[in-house]
Amino acid sequence: MNEHSNECIFCNIEKSRIVIENSLAILFYDSFPVTEGHSLIIPKRHIADYFSLTGDELRAVHELINLQSERLMEGDKSIKGFNIGTNAGKAAGQTVMHCHIHLIPRREGDCEDPRGGVRGVIPGKMKYSI
Ligand code: 5GP
Ligand code: ZN
Repeated sequence: MNEHSNECIFCNIEKSRIVIENSLAILFYDSFPVTEGHSLIIPKRHIADYFSLTGDELRAVHELINLQSERLMEGDKSIKGFNIGTNAGKAAGQTVMHCHIHLIPRREGDCEDPRGGVRGVIPGKMKYSI
């Protein structure tokens, strides 16, 4: 039922690293965090990317994103926002080919000018003007 890849680092994540889970998804901290609290949410099934998530898996992932965002904000009052994102495909920057969603806490002053947020995936395109 649950597809597993022996070669995949996320399929083989140590149990002790799991922060929260439900029947279909797991949340753990990124080993190379962009900001403190940077979390990764994955389906338990080894699937390539976001577009392969079933409706039930989407709901499971969504539940962990919401739960973790609340927990992080309760535990750290300096968190004022989040970036939520997923890289789907090598061309989009995906390096681990097991679907995962990044939950990145943001704090005032954590970068010089945060405007544009995820637009920053293409350097130089973060800001826009009408
Ligand atoms: P991608 O570039 O595929 O969207 O994101 C992969 C993420 O996995 C990166 O943010 C990277 O820091 C994280 N990462 C890479 N190897 C490991 C690991 O062994 N354990 C954990 N927890 N995160 C990892
Ligand atoms: Zn996997």
